[in-house]
Amino acid sequence: MMGRVLPTPDLLEARVVEMFALWRVPLGAPVVVSWNSRLRSTAGRAFYREGRIELNPALLERSPDQIDTVLVHEAAHVAAHRLFGSRCPAHGRHWRGLMRLAGLPPDVTHALPVPLGQRSRRRERIYLRVCDACGGRRIARIVRYDACACGAVRRFFVLRAPATAGGLDALRNMSLAEARERCGTALK
Ligand SMILES: [Zn+2]
Ligand SMILES: [Zn+2]
Repeated sequence: MMGRVLPTPDLLEARVVEMFALWRVPLGAPVVVSWNSRLRSTAGRAFYREGRIELNPALLERSPDQIDTVLVHEAAHVAAHRLFGSRCPAHGRHWRGLMRLAGLPPDVTHALPVPLGQRSRRRERIYLRVCDACGGRRIARIVRYDACACGAVRRFFVLRAPATAGGLDALRNMSLAEARERCGTALK
């Protein structure tokens, strides 16, 4: 199942070391990256206390161009935790700042695995924003990171899908638990 296209954990870990240098993360316990073939719909996830990242081989084998983005996304979670402590929101401004430094769009989580035929040429996207505090959700073409109607600030999970009927369905049917899992992060 693991094809030749997939980079070895050694290479992925070296990439994390490179990103940590860019982000000026103090040297700590090495981050361990592994391919976990039990992951289903999650492209990647980070266990930030343990400094561990898991990537989905089946999904990323089909979208090898996403490997680096997913890796850096997860690495930024571990880095944000080490730099700013455990209380910083998963996709809050610290994490977004690290993504920007890495040259990646910060308002984006992992692309959903959709059949190639559904991908629109213009790559239009829609986003599901779920509040981790109240579960309130919004699907829109633009993500706003302001406060939720419930008063919670920066406690959103954001997931992206193509702006197609299939993408809309996927976002509509996604539970808070699934959104959290897909994001590979758990807020305390
Ligand atoms: Zn809320
Ligand atoms: Zn995330």
